[in-house]
Amino acid sequence: MRITAVKCLQLKFPYEQPIYDALFKAGHRQALLVEVHTDEGICGIGEAASFGGPMSSTAEVIENELAPRIIGEDPFCVERIWRKLYYRSWQHGRGGIVVCAISGLDIALWDIIGQKTNTPLYKLLGGYTDKVTAYASGGFYRRDKGTKQIAQEMKLYVEQGFKAVKMKVGRNKTAMNPLEVMPDNDFTYSLAEDLERVAAVREAIGPDIKLLVDANAAWDQQTALKMGKEFDKLDVYLIEEPVCTDNHSASNLLVRNIMAKIGGYETEQLSFNFDQLIKNESVDVVQPDLSWAGGITECRKIANMAYVSHKEFAPHCFSSAVLLAASLHMLCAVPNAGLLEFDRNPNGLREEIVKKPLRIDEEGCVSVSQEPGLGLELDYDKIEKYLEK
Ligand SMILES: [Mg+2]
Repeated sequence: MRITAVKCLQLKFPYEQPIYDALFKAGHRQALLVEVHTDEGICGIGEAASFGGPMSSTAEVIENELAPRIIGEDPFCVERIWRKLYYRSWQHGRGGIVVCAISGLDIALWDIIGQKTNTPLYKLLGGYTDKVTAYASGGFYRRDKGTKQIAQEMKLYVEQGFKAVKMKVGRNKTAMNPLEVMPDNDFTYSLAEDLERVAAVREAIGPDIKLLVDANAAWDQQTALKMGKEFDKLDVYLIEEPVCTDNHSASNLLVRNIMAKIGGYETEQLSFNFDQLIKNESVDVVQPDLSWAGGITECRKIANMAYVSHKEFAPHCFSSAVLLAASLHMLCAVPNAGLLEFDRNPNGLREEIVKKPLRIDEEGCVSVSQEPGLGLELDYDKIEKYLEK
């Protein structure tokens, strides 16, 4: 079997009202899907992250820089292909969009292997379980969303069956907060308001639901420590990306001094860098994004590294149905799986582009597809609807 062609699909889903995290405003959602075609008619689908930039630049890297290197290759040779993609572009991008581009191709290759062998991906990768507990990923800031509204939103997820929910914190004017240089930096909350929101959510969801907060790497060490101690009083389960991704010592200080688990960092890439995060004891829960950190080939290494350090592996997953399926397969393949991130914001790229979008069951779990590969049945009419290019 040989790879014959690579094609990118740039999808965009507009929001009626923008949502905000600690640093960024999202007026739309975007997903860069990657098709890898073979001479046997099997086509694998992957996704490359494009947070913080246009999809077109990553698509350019995929189609014009990387694709020519894999045409004619055997798609089963993922490790060899990965090194060929990475090291030939090493001087060009030892991270960043080059690694996002590799991730998209790599996920598609694993989908091809699953289809060709007639095996669901999670079984190819280890087959540990067929379902995992999900958390509702929402609780974004919005200009019209006050304390009462956010508490209602999170309570709604619990009513829908979720046993764990995540909300945003960190949109504050604190020392070194990168929000200072972002557009829309007039829209902020005080630390007291953030705490009031988290407390209101805890009150609304009750004591038995896991509550996660996400600071998007916005805080300095002192702010994160101060807030972490307050979150402990509210029985927060996990604090995601509390400090700058590169500030391993501050993250380690939190690991040692806060009861809540410290999770991260979706903004980190590659096994080599996660090795440092793990060795420095800077996280309790290891959260690479499959479409960002280097694909399945790289993230299974990261999952194994987390395992040998007795840490949970819980990939960041906040995009289309393709990444959601890939992340679920990866979680179901490993013995140290944490929670599945299940985005609850309106998003046609998650709900509409596949014939059977994933759902939680009455226990708050999501079951993995038993179909070959990623097990996705794409709806190309809907893909057409959201296609930018
Ligand atoms: Mg996050």
